Amino acid sequence: MSIKEMEDYASKYDIPIMEKEGIEFLTKYIKDNNIKSILEIGTAIGYSAIRMCNISSDITVTTIERDEERYNIAVENVKSNNLEDRITLILGDALEVDVTGKYDLIFIDAAKAQSIKFFTKYSPLLKEDGTIITDNINFHGLTFSKDPAPTRNLRQLTRKINDYLKWLEDNKEFTSKYVNIGDGVMISKRV
Ligand code: SAH
Ligand code: MG
Repeated sequence: MSIKEMEDYASKYDIPIMEKEGIEFLTKYIKDNNIKSILEIGTAIGYSAIRMCNISSDITVTTIERDEERYNIAVENVKSNNLEDRITLILGDALEVDVTGKYDLIFIDAAKAQSIKFFTKYSPLLKEDGTIITDNINFHGLTFSKDPAPTRNLRQLTRKINDYLKWLEDNKEFTSKYVNIGDGVMISKRV
């Protein structure tokens, strides 16, 4: 699939790929900060991984997806975009798989209730001056809403996101900055 076809496919089948403003912010951040090696948690169909690689021919991405059907589509998309030598796809639960390497950027974009666990597990793979970016902090406006979310699941999810925000605030090793763009991204760097 082309970028456009992936966007259409995602909207048709409700796959939560990064939205326009968010991906524009992310790709600009990667360019401006000369980021070359990226670890992504949450591949979906490979859209953001491919967009990140398209910035420059010396960028590589390792990306993890637990849903086999999405992973298979991502494999096809990486192939048809000729990026097999720059995108490494891993099928499995990010909390279980073994990943090695050192990365300039870790992009957390998977199960929103588990961000603390992803951060804790993967931050040792971040280079000293690297960045961790977490997507969907705003969660469609629900995280910071005064009104409780409409369903029990969503209430639990927004509580978990708020726990993550509190945890980041108290984190002594990293300092984090919220950017209200797309669905809300958090930028964390070592102090
Ligand atoms: N980054 C993608 C979108 C990812 S959507 C893009 O912008 O194009 C989030 C994905 O994370 C979903 O496909 C979901 O299956 C996956 N996911 C959720 N929890 C996960 C986990 N623990 N390990 C691996 N993948 C996970
Ligand atoms: Mg996202």
